[in-house]
Amino acid sequence: MQFRFHTYAELEAIVLSENIPVPVYGIKREAFMAGVSEEAILSEIDRRIAVTRNALIKGLEAPQHSRSGLTKGAAVAFASSDRHLIRDELFTRSVAYALAINEVNACGGKVVSFPTAGSSGIVPGLIWAWWDTREHPAPAGAPGKVQPCNPPYAARLRDAFVVASLTGVIIAQGATLAGSEGGCQAECGAAGAMAACALAYLEEQPLRACFSAAALSLKNSLGLACDPVAGLVEVPCVKRNAFVAVNALTAVDLTLSSIESIIPFDEVVWAMKQIGDSLPGSIKENSTGGLAITPTGLTFKRAMEADA
Ligand code: SF4
Repeated sequence: MQFRFHTYAELEAIVLSENIPVPVYGIKREAFMAGVSEEAILSEIDRRIAVTRNALIKGLEAPQHSRSGLTKGAAVAFASSDRHLIRDELFTRSVAYALAINEVNACGGKVVSFPTAGSSGIVPGLIWAWWDTREHPAPAGAPGKVQPCNPPYAARLRDAFVVASLTGVIIAQGATLAGSEGGCQAECGAAGAMAACALAYLEEQPLRACFSAAALSLKNSLGLACDPVAGLVEVPCVKRNAFVAVNALTAVDLTLSSIESIIPFDEVVWAMKQIGDSLPGSIKENSTGGLAITPTGLTFKRAMEADA
């Protein structure tokens, strides 16, 4: 079996010729690349999924406050608010979960870099929001009270994480997953594509439609600056996780309505690489441009330097 691929087109050709479901292929590939058994990979996947669930619980059970003051419990505030313009459980959970996990990261807690720490709320946030809403509905009216969910995990849940991972593999090979190289399109943008692909898969869309959803989401994050205030992965990162999660939800909803991306996923990744290469260095994670050098951004930077 061929385990090296660079594009969606190559991945599709392999799974079609092998007549194998894409998550099964993903696990076999990972075992091959890591030189371990498939059982070991499944066990590691479960361990990492458990980390995401625990981060989610931590981020919602108490407001997360960082030393810088840039992170101050947005997830709990959102989940416990009774004022919402959009009253849809999947939407509310998606936003709350993405914020919760990323606030835990901002406060030095344990997360899975999926694909990076700064974007760590988007993929698990959306997959768990879908899971708690559609597969195992949580107690009604409790988006801020998430129950533990321990391994071993259902194959379908693992599959969603594996499909997201394969989407990330293609972006990593065709462009980058580093904000310092490609701006935030490479972190939150990539995570949105990964999450859209996974949710479309959970919604039982064919593989081509899943990657069309990924393309739709990624297209709408192209050119995103990486300009973290005070060099901390907090602003704009935490709230951006929520915004990009909604971006991915929209991509999946469009896909379920048979609306396709005109530009194929592989070409969007190509465009992402071109755009990343042409972005100025000041908005590639070194905090010398954009939001980082606003008067407010510089005030936080000076406060952190004085506190050091
Ligand atoms: S703004 Fe930069 S540091 Fe923050 S999530 Fe995006 S790429 Fe990461």
